[in-house]
Amino acid sequence: MKLNDRGLLIVISGPSGVGKGTVRKALFDMKGHNLTYSVSMTTRKMRPGEVDGKDYYFVSKEEFEQRIKDDKFLEHAEFVGNYYGTPFDKVNERLEEGQEVVLEIEVNGALQVKKKVPDCVMIFIVPPSKEALYARLKKRGTESEEVIMERINKANREFKSAKYYDYIVVNDEVNNAADRIMAIIRAEHAKTERSIHKYYELIGESDEN
Ligand code: 5GP
Repeated sequence: MKLNDRGLLIVISGPSGVGKGTVRKALFDMKGHNLTYSVSMTTRKMRPGEVDGKDYYFVSKEEFEQRIKDDKFLEHAEFVGNYYGTPFDKVNERLEEGQEVVLEIEVNGALQVKKKVPDCVMIFIVPPSKEALYARLKKRGTESEEVIMERINKANREFKSAKYYDYIVVNDEVNNAADRIMAIIRAEHAKTERSIHKYYELIGESDEN
């Protein structure tokens, strides 16, 4: 039995190439959860295999900028020349319904969310070693040495952002990382500050004193 009805806003970030997307999928494949993924909006080009409305909402730069003006984003950021943002509309509604809303976003956006929703749960995924990440980045495709170096440099800068997060999860093995995130979600629900009101209600006591 859960002692709070509202869902958690879960923010997942991590350096490029750490396998955030794979961990998220493993998390969603687990049984008995109430997770919902917040599909982001972006101006970047669709990659082969991606589906509009499932992976991202793909929009033009003009449309994105109009939405910024209309205050339609919970957060938004620029990443390697493209805009990315979390549409506001559904997030609160889903949290009220008791669903856990998962955002998979980069660090600047994550910090904006922390400011607006201080009780969000910030999780930073890291590789077991820098070498493991470099190996993944090198293996990823047929990119030139220069592009690989650029990504490695970017990842090196991103490592340091771990300090802004509530939890650090090592992605040594995808299912282990997903298990750790699920454990964090359960523990967060049991936190006194989230559950005390409902608990007092249950036992017919008031909050005061
Ligand atoms: P990609 O282009 O590889 O799909 O994503 C690039 C980066 O943008 C990743 O770090 C991803 O987590 C981040 N990202 C995806 N959606 C959003 C979003 O809505 N807001 C922010 N701030 N970052 C996002």
